[in-house]
Amino acid sequence: MSGNQLTDIRSLSREEIDGYFSSIREKPFRAKQVYEWLWKKGCISFDSMSNLPKSVRDQLSETFSFNVFAETGRQQSVDGTQKIGFRLHDGAMIEGVLIPSEERATACISTQAGCALGCTFCATAKLGFSRNLTVAEIVDQVRILNEISHESHGTSLSNIVLMGMGEPLFNYPHVKRAIELITGEDGMGISPQRITLSTVGVPKVIRQLADDNFKPHLALSLHAATDAKRNKIIPFNQRHPIYELISALVYYHKKTGKRFTVEYLLLREFNDSLADARSLAEFCRNFPVKVNLIEYNPVEGIEFQRSDMKKMKEFKDFLEARNMVVNVRQSRGKDIDAACGQLAAKNIRRET
Ligand code: SF4
Repeated sequence: MSGNQLTDIRSLSREEIDGYFSSIREKPFRAKQVYEWLWKKGCISFDSMSNLPKSVRDQLSETFSFNVFAETGRQQSVDGTQKIGFRLHDGAMIEGVLIPSEERATACISTQAGCALGCTFCATAKLGFSRNLTVAEIVDQVRILNEISHESHGTSLSNIVLMGMGEPLFNYPHVKRAIELITGEDGMGISPQRITLSTVGVPKVIRQLADDNFKPHLALSLHAATDAKRNKIIPFNQRHPIYELISALVYYHKKTGKRFTVEYLLLREFNDSLADARSLAEFCRNFPVKVNLIEYNPVEGIEFQRSDMKKMKEFKDFLEARNMVVNVRQSRGKDIDAACGQLAAKNIRRET
């Protein structure tokens, strides 16, 4: 039987693994051993579970599989950023990015294969939506990018951003569980403070994050602060306009006390005027935020262009004059289409 016809053992919770060992009348501590192999040691074969008797390993491999994915290629940018393509066990394609800097090694990971939201500035949107990633597929990207970080830079990942392909809050149950495994002491033990989840803003799930006491940092991909403009670039906004978003974010801030980041891509002659900056300042008056102004990286077949430096500076100065905390972010990996909004389209077109 081929691997992917069996259940991937990594889709089982700790309780389900306990239940499995109880059902086969095995000692309960075997569940703990297996769980540690899976999530602490990143093991992807039953044969490697060296502290389990062979009979148990055989039984596991007859019952479960590992739906591991294959690397399809790497590209390296002049700035050191690496983009890695992955083919999932069912043929779906995703990409992850490793961004090294002097103090950090950041992994940008995907949460869906493709994306259903159709943002008009984004390369991933052109692929459409394939499916949600499983918990193991999200965690595996971290594991593999961590290995590549060791190989290439001799250091472990310091930060993780969920900003790759897909809308994380449309796959929230798997994202939540993956983050628990990435941050848990039984798992990889990475601090939640070093993880950032980026979303276009799904009001109902933002409230859920607050209720769940979600620990990672939240980044809102706003990109336009009026419905008239946001509707044009983020179609999701037509169903959930900005007042709904503000209401959910006010709830989030009141319940968690946390500040979040507002991400704003500067698009030439679309959202980079001082009137746009004023709208952004008004939006941000509702809660304490930090604003990241992001340089846009043109995507083949998409008409938007990057704002010029003068406009960017005027925009930033306008906000800072209102005592706002503002950073200008230059996306990394532009020459290999690994920067913000550029993921996926080219490599995947080549593969299919
Ligand atoms: S920007 Fe994010 S949410 Fe929008 S289409 Fe691209 S991947 Fe999806």
